Amino acid sequence: MKGMIFNVQRFCVQDGPGIRTTVFFKGCPLRCAWCHNPESHRPQAEILYSEEKCIRCGACAAACPKGLHRLDGEGHSYSRALCDACGRCAAACHAGALELCGREADSGQVVAEVLRDAAFFRESGGGMTLSGGEPMFQPDFALELARTARAAGVHVCVETCGCCAWEALERMIPHVDLFLYDFKLADAAAHRLYTGADNGRILANLAALDGAGAAIVFRCPIIPGVNLTDAHFDDIARLASAHPAICQIDLEPYHPLGLEKAKRMGRSVPFAQDGFLNRDELGPRAAALRARVRVPVTIQ
Ligand code: SF4
Ligand code: SF4
Repeated sequence: MKGMIFNVQRFCVQDGPGIRTTVFFKGCPLRCAWCHNPESHRPQAEILYSEEKCIRCGACAAACPKGLHRLDGEGHSYSRALCDACGRCAAACHAGALELCGREADSGQVVAEVLRDAAFFRESGGGMTLSGGEPMFQPDFALELARTARAAGVHVCVETCGCCAWEALERMIPHVDLFLYDFKLADAAAHRLYTGADNGRILANLAALDGAGAAIVFRCPIIPGVNLTDAHFDDIARLASAHPAICQIDLEPYHPLGLEKAKRMGRSVPFAQDGFLNRDELGPRAAALRARVRVPVTIQ
């Protein structure tokens, strides 16, 4: 089976237990204003351009069959509108200024790539994580990867925003060891404002996963100016207590690493904050949360 991914990253240590290989899916139904993987949003492949790496050699202009790259007195410019992401310019760019983000991948080949690290998984208690983007945006491909890897004895995690049909999540359950379930905001209007989508289905799917007895890590991005509030931590505590399948809470402090990627895609940045949210700043809130819930609380 074929699917669209943009990376298979080895030796990940923050995408579930142990050492993991993470498969990043293209396509996401949300547009979180603080997203650190904006290159995952669109389901199709696209070109990333780093102006500071460009040495103005003109190789891209010679390679592009559509004549979309131009070099003149102003330097190098690139017209994205007509690009079909054939990747020829990126292959010709030896300065690394152009990068093709997204490739159609075969499920069998992806799992074979993942299995190269089976010894590390066994030693560390790790495995494969499906992430993105949103894995459930390509539900058949996600199911095939999870089923094949699990049948080969690999521990499987799925990181999901939960914004998908329940049926798609439900059929994953027998093939997934741990769901890494994102929680951004409980308030419906604020959720729509900052992610572009309603949270009703997300909260309903969380309850359904809980009811089905799936193991869930609650993953909570903490964004200053959005949800770094007492009320939001009350919501995290309330939902963790209401869903016994939640076995851990991960607090994920905001970082601005998505800004540079958005720039490379020629996109405006809806939510720009300069600094990282200091882990120390979250310490007292994490301690207060630990006192209210029955599960471990980590700061990622
Ligand atoms: S091939 Fe790369 S380095 Fe050369 S002009 Fe094009 S973008 Fe710049
Ligand atoms: S990806 Fe293909 S069509 Fe797009 S700019 Fe590069 S060479 Fe041209």
